[in-house]
Amino acid sequence: MNIVHAFLNRARSHPHLAAVTCSGRTLSFADLAARSQALAAALSQHSQLTAGSRVVICMENRAAFFETLFASWIAGLCAVPVNAKLHPKEVRQIVGDCAAALVFTSDYLLGGLQPVLADLAQPAPLVSVDDDAYQAMLRHAPMDCMDMQPDDLAWLFYTSGTTGVPKGAMLTHRNLLGMSLHYGADIDHVMAGDTMLHLAPLSHGAGQYSLPHIFNGGHQVIEKSFTPDLLLEGLQRYPRVSLFAAPTMITRALRAAEGLSDAGGNLQTLVYGGAPMYVSDLLKTLDVFGPRLVQIYGQGESPMTITQLSRQDHQGSGDAAHLARLASCGIARSAVQVRVVDDDGRDLPTGQPGEIITRSDTRMLGYWNNPKATASAIREGWLWTGDIGSLDELGYLTLRDRSKDMIIRGGSNIYPREIEEVLLRHPAVAEVSVIGAPSADLGEEPVAFVVLKKDMTVTAEELDSLCLDNLARFKRPREYFFPEDLPKNNYGKILKTTLRQQLNPKGTQ
Ligand code: AMP
Repeated sequence: MNIVHAFLNRARSHPHLAAVTCSGRTLSFADLAARSQALAAALSQHSQLTAGSRVVICMENRAAFFETLFASWIAGLCAVPVNAKLHPKEVRQIVGDCAAALVFTSDYLLGGLQPVLADLAQPAPLVSVDDDAYQAMLRHAPMDCMDMQPDDLAWLFYTSGTTGVPKGAMLTHRNLLGMSLHYGADIDHVMAGDTMLHLAPLSHGAGQYSLPHIFNGGHQVIEKSFTPDLLLEGLQRYPRVSLFAAPTMITRALRAAEGLSDAGGNLQTLVYGGAPMYVSDLLKTLDVFGPRLVQIYGQGESPMTITQLSRQDHQGSGDAAHLARLASCGIARSAVQVRVVDDDGRDLPTGQPGEIITRSDTRMLGYWNNPKATASAIREGWLWTGDIGSLDELGYLTLRDRSKDMIIRGGSNIYPREIEEVLLRHPAVAEVSVIGAPSADLGEEPVAFVVLKKDMTVTAEELDSLCLDNLARFKRPREYFFPEDLPKNNYGKILKTTLRQQLNPKGTQ
């Protein structure tokens, strides 16, 4: 059983259908299959690659993402898609952690990655998909797909833990098949020729949800990044369009849609999730795009699949029950179990908040090379999500809080600790705490509270350039505050809740 069979089957039955379009160029299913199988043959002859080797895919959104992903699976390797917006030093951390045997990238990123990856203990060759070497790989005679076991690794999904150190969630062929079958069961029956519009990074949820879509003959239309206009134009231009969007992308599109008579155009399904969607925004979205919304709640460790708020659940009279439903993230997906429990794993009564735990075929195998984190996340088969929520009497789950102090900026997760560690490297910084400040455009943005050492000074500009040297741009704090000290509890722990209240006394976020 190899997840990529689902694609190869479709390439056989519908060879001439459009599979991927990017920058005005379209590959048919037959083209994409031929290129992936040739590339797989080249990989299988590569001296550094053996069954299960990790292949990092770090590139902007483009068609080669699918070629390299499918080729890795055909050749029996494990793909490690990495967000192209990460700082090269962050990419290095991932490449080193998974002991990657090869890194596929683009000319755009190559110059930044080459010097930082060069001195890894186990250096991984870099191949730019814009290079002649890649073209040469595509000229190999196509190979047949390797047989895999359901628990073989397919996708190592790097997520950040509470500690801020990225952990690789090991997703197997079974997990991705489970995720794909759940898409068909709960969200949509995709038909050949349907469109999936990609405006979010393919290394994350959008790329994962492209799988059920492409397996059913869907056409992946790839844009390099999100703008509200690209979203609205795509809905007019292509047939039966589905897309996965973070809530902040939707609210930005709503503003751009003001005054348009049929902004929804050919929208089939707008799947949103990954961060809270506020009810007032959801009501506006329903007004503008119609009853074509599905909310999902998932996490890298159970990809895109824990609960869903269906199309029907979005409809209602606007009474209190309907609004409460819109504030929830729906019910457990078809073959998924969801419970809310106390610290000892005992079920909590209806309405009482506790940790959300889940069990299904989409639950990851564990964290790569990290048995301690695995043992804490997976207990007796259940995945402990780290999210706090409560269930109502009908089984609708409401997320109460992110138990971790994660900041969600425009759908991208930022872990404060990563930023704090960088800021603490400055000799003038004594203490630091980073929290999420409400942002109209992006949901949240990081801001930093910095306590200076006695008689020392530093400017916000200096700290900003320290962050730029070490972190992805989108993670740098929007603002710096320099208080005399930080609020702490009796154990000396910094009270982030107090900082949040200071920043936002009305608690609108
Ligand atoms: P990631 O692993 O990067 O996909 O992030 C997963 C986290 O995003 C979850 O553990 C939740 O905290 C949050 N999240 C995912 N879906 C939703 C949703 N529908 N509503 C609110 N938060 C969500």
